[in-house]
Amino acid sequence: MKLRFLAGLALASLFALATTHAADTTRPNIVIIFADDLGYGDLGCYGHPNIRTPNLDRMAAEGMRFTEFYSAAEVCTPSRAALLTGRYPIRSGMCHDQFRVLRNVSMGHLPANEVTTAEALKARGYATGCIGKWHLGNWINNPAGHPRRHGFDFYFGLPHSNDMNVTPVAPKGAGKLAEQQADWWNAPLFRNEELIERPADQTTLTRRYTDEAVKFIQANKAKPFFLYLPHTFPHTPLFASKDFFGKSARGIYGDVVEELDASVGKVLDTLRQEKLAENTLVFFTSDNGPWLIMNQQGGSAGLLRDGKGSTWEGGMRVPVIAWWPGKIKAAQTQRTLACTMDLFTTSLKLAGADVPSDRPIDGLDIRPLLFGTGTVQREAYFFYRGTRLMAARSGDFKAHFLTQPGYGQPKPDEHATPLLFNLKVDASETFNVATNHPAVLSQIAQAVERHKSAMTPAQSQLVEAVPVPEKK
Ligand code: MG
Repeated sequence: MKLRFLAGLALASLFALATTHAADTTRPNIVIIFADDLGYGDLGCYGHPNIRTPNLDRMAAEGMRFTEFYSAAEVCTPSRAALLTGRYPIRSGMCHDQFRVLRNVSMGHLPANEVTTAEALKARGYATGCIGKWHLGNWINNPAGHPRRHGFDFYFGLPHSNDMNVTPVAPKGAGKLAEQQADWWNAPLFRNEELIERPADQTTLTRRYTDEAVKFIQANKAKPFFLYLPHTFPHTPLFASKDFFGKSARGIYGDVVEELDASVGKVLDTLRQEKLAENTLVFFTSDNGPWLIMNQQGGSAGLLRDGKGSTWEGGMRVPVIAWWPGKIKAAQTQRTLACTMDLFTTSLKLAGADVPSDRPIDGLDIRPLLFGTGTVQREAYFFYRGTRLMAARSGDFKAHFLTQPGYGQPKPDEHATPLLFNLKVDASETFNVATNHPAVLSQIAQAVERHKSAMTPAQSQLVEAVPVPEKK
């Protein structure tokens, strides 16, 4: 089914491919910069008092800042799966325990029949690159999960999170600077399928990802490209290069975010220098909320409740900036609800690719929001933790049917009685108004029932997903 879909796309693209990119405004470049565990409150333009983010602040001043934008999950792997497939992760199985996809010992991976943004855009003649953290299954254990098997021409980065494979061994040549920062982690760094460094010197990762991103843009400037740049940080353990280490008033977390900000500046500067800015849409966002149990090494969700691992707002509402000079008007704040799955649908629409019609796609086309040409209607947005539907939002109201504190926190706090919050006046989800608005609660509950009755979760990959022992 996927092959037929992609073949159809390729045929439909033949005429488009005959044109040169310089004259081709039908296939803009698309760049998605994806921070890891960056909180809603961690950027200057989202109100942080002392983390300096001048490049992201400028990006927001030149573009559109979203205030009601959600990742599709509260942890890394399902969030990434949803971003790249436009589907709630329960549909691909990338949130299922039995898929065993989250750990470095996992054998499961993004199913081959899922259509990623990279595959759909590649079929439209795009060059496609993934630079950074993959974490859609550990493809070292199962090569079928490699980014190049999911539509990316080029890959540079880590296969999973930087806290997997702990080791007491320091990387060669890391020196005193790196030793001050954290324990060592035996993270492997790859270029395509080739292991180039293990343990990766994590103090250099943000700089090297940035260098690779700049090279990718320059190498592909004559054709449309899709660059997916999922940074390793500010997921812990935190590492910054010598130019940033010890420089932020916010400590190492601030150092790391300020280095990410500088990286964004370099990417945007490259687009300007190569005269690609007016034909490139750039999104900056985060995969989930801040990892609060890391204390000072974790970020901030600002005024939002809780963080990574929870379906409270702090776990899934993320900072988002969209930038496209000449197409997206400057200095806009967008308060309409949108989500990472929308980036799939919107990217395909912008590229002239057909959105797959042989499966449910949850992402909506948000071009009307970006370009100020209209509104986008969404009956409700659903908050999952794994395979469990925990909460749903419709308009200003969010109902929690189950709640659970953030990732790594010990005590469940499930509620048998639904809670209802009016996010317009209570973004912190402090005041339960369920008894004041029974009709709203009932309307959301009905939307949940319709959603659940139409949902077909992915089948288990348990047979092939047998964990292997962790290599030290
Ligand atoms: Mg994450």
